[in-house]
Amino acid sequence: MDLYSQSLHYGYSVFEGIRSYRTAAGTTKIFKATEHFDRLQRSAEALNLPYSWSTPELIEASYEVLKKNNLQDAYIRPVVYAPANMSFNLNTESFTTIQTWEMAPFLGDKLLKVMTSSFQRPNPKGFKIEAKAAGHYVNSILASQEAKAKGYDEALLTDMNGYIAEGPGANIFFEKSGRLYTPATGNILPGITRATVLEICEELGIPVEEGRFTPHDLSRADAAFFCGTAAEVIGWESYDDKPFPTQWKESLSRKIQQAYKDLVTEKALQLETI
Ligand code: PMP
Repeated sequence: MDLYSQSLHYGYSVFEGIRSYRTAAGTTKIFKATEHFDRLQRSAEALNLPYSWSTPELIEASYEVLKKNNLQDAYIRPVVYAPANMSFNLNTESFTTIQTWEMAPFLGDKLLKVMTSSFQRPNPKGFKIEAKAAGHYVNSILASQEAKAKGYDEALLTDMNGYIAEGPGANIFFEKSGRLYTPATGNILPGITRATVLEICEELGIPVEEGRFTPHDLSRADAAFFCGTAAEVIGWESYDDKPFPTQWKESLSRKIQQAYKDLVTEKALQLETI
């Protein structure tokens, strides 16, 4: 990258976080590849970054990078970044790169201690909040670092009105009396994993409500989890030091976690075809 790029100086770039899995059949499968690269394009367009690639060509390139690096279970990180330009003017071109690496679940595999962050998510009137823009992640880094400095595993951020929004790099669901609840879109990154969880709930017949919920609503939940491509589905142990009453193993959330794992590794598909 050019050291005079707006991407380096102003956080003016967009990216994706994608995972590939070794499937039950032994093949390599990028989970929801089209959805991720379509979002990359929408993110670039939202920020007025010139975008000259097609989703199929970037998917093909990603499989190529995986193969060259001999990876099956991997994280894939495409970035679209700007050329040299220290003004705030439009660019006439962008560049892209695709990196892959092996990555354990982003938030680990143990139940999380989560705190309400003192940071709120960016005001959607100040940012294109539905775009996966690099600059937004200064907010994520500050929130996550604050939580870890205070002895928690992760932060939960509210939106500008004080309703629960999302984690620094994941969406949130909570469970209460057999129903799931998740913040509506508008003040969050609408996650591809969040959409997958909604599909799983539909399949399993679990009712879900999207809406505006307060930290108080969340504190009265039976269970909660974060979901995201990097984090996958990961349950919470406690929220603001209050443990959840339902054992994770007994929760509907745990069923969703298992269904997600089966889906990304195509285990369910494999069973169907046997
Ligand atoms: N919210 C934020 C702020 C994120 O960074 C992510 C990770 N991309 C998510 C939610 C979850 O999105 P996805 O399920 O598409 O990975």
